[in-house]
Amino acid sequence: MPASLEQLGYLVAAVLFILGLKRLNTPATARSGNRLSAVGMLLAIVITLFDRAILSYGVIAAGLLVGGAVGLWAARVVKMTSMPQMVALLNGLGGAASLLVGGAEFLRAELLGEQLPLETGISIALAIIIGAVTLSGSLVAWAKLQEVISGRPITFPGLQAVNATIFVVILALSAYQLATPEALLWPFYAAVTLSLLLGVLLVIPIGGADMPVVISLLNSYSGIAAAMTGFVIGNTVLIIAGALVGSSGIILSQIMCRAMNRSLTNVLFGAFGATTTSGGGRSAEGLTVRSISAEDAAVQLAYARLVIVVPGYGLAVAQAQQQVRELAELVEKRGGDVRYAIHPVAGRMPGHMNVLLAEANVPYDKLFDMEDINPEFERADVALVVGANDVVNPAARTDTSSPIYGMPILNADHARSVIVLKRGMSAGFAGIENDLFYNPRTSMLFGDAKKSLSTLISEVKAL
Ligand code: NAP
Repeated sequence: MPASLEQLGYLVAAVLFILGLKRLNTPATARSGNRLSAVGMLLAIVITLFDRAILSYGVIAAGLLVGGAVGLWAARVVKMTSMPQMVALLNGLGGAASLLVGGAEFLRAELLGEQLPLETGISIALAIIIGAVTLSGSLVAWAKLQEVISGRPITFPGLQAVNATIFVVILALSAYQLATPEALLWPFYAAVTLSLLLGVLLVIPIGGADMPVVISLLNSYSGIAAAMTGFVIGNTVLIIAGALVGSSGIILSQIMCRAMNRSLTNVLFGAFGATTTSGGGRSAEGLTVRSISAEDAAVQLAYARLVIVVPGYGLAVAQAQQQVRELAELVEKRGGDVRYAIHPVAGRMPGHMNVLLAEANVPYDKLFDMEDINPEFERADVALVVGANDVVNPAARTDTSSPIYGMPILNADHARSVIVLKRGMSAGFAGIENDLFYNPRTSMLFGDAKKSLSTLISEVKAL
């Protein structure tokens, strides 16, 4: 294929990525955005298959078949609640790919005695370092989320100093490697090993409520590593796609940080573990909880003028999205207005609640971002909290000792009445008590959210 046609094709693919990303902005256009980006990726792959440097189409076809089959299987089988682990693994694979391509290019040049230009050497070093950090860091994030290892912060005194030292040593080894003309393999292997270790040490101290930031940050790292790989093998579309993933990951990390009241600088310098304590918050001894029957809850909902539904992780666990929509429709038929309050970190991944509710065909215009819905709680007759906990915990506003202090929350406690659907009094992700459950305006409807919602549906219908 002529080089100009190749570059034109890559340009079209890049434009499709950008348009696709733009359309991911709102749930209404997200599906078509995803399709556009997928078409862009297909175009990029097809053009790359015309590359003159390809040695064996057989190996590529085998890779496509195996990778495609695993991807298809994962997309169909992996539950929504396990999506964050899946994203962590995919980030790790992105890092591994950059590490392998960078490493292969380095070894090829070393073994052939080829002197690489300085800029290529630097790109290779960065692809290897960032790729290795992303790989091991993502595997630790996966293990934490999958509960293979403890989700609590694992840390020791001086960890930040150790990380800084390892980082400096990696840079020194890479610089030595680049400056030495003869073929030396030990600095390469040492830098890879130390980078893998750094990835582990950067993620193990992170626990509790900071996990979303880690995932999007690792996503960003995988993009930066891919962009570096693009420079190494001279592939324009890889540079652009990597830069897009890198920058959108950073932007998402920043949005997440704001939603969880962490500064990005704090995140970048690895102070994740510092504010996440085991448990934390206050104890609920001596406080009383009021439970409510489904009949009474149904009466409140049926006669409410404004109901604000606050979905949380429990909604995903119970897979109760269809039931919540059905109940909302019943309330609306009786003249009530039902809105959904979406907290940016509700659930276990960015956009978790949007995806769940979209799956149940909840109209997009019923979904409200935190800033828009918070002033509405005051005039809501009922805030219906479905499997949410941390995102409605008032301790974030008032308790300076709480690990989630400062995190913006949904003002469910400002509603005239709050009905909470959860199975028991277990804590949420941050592992802390929630004052909202002891508020005199709050009633608890205990049970699995799907079952409770189904009962509520029957009760409202019977009224
Ligand atoms: P949450 O604080 O984790 O609380 C979820 C609640 O759902 C639990 O207290 C649990 O109580 C209840 N629950 C579980 N299964 C249920 C079921 N089948 N039926 C009814 N209730 C059920 O959830 P959240 O309010 O959505 O807050 C999200 C938390 O996750 C935040 O701390 C956030 O920082 C963190 N996080 C978010 C992301 C992200 O990107 N969105 C990623 C990682 C972590 P019971 O066991 O008593 O029922």
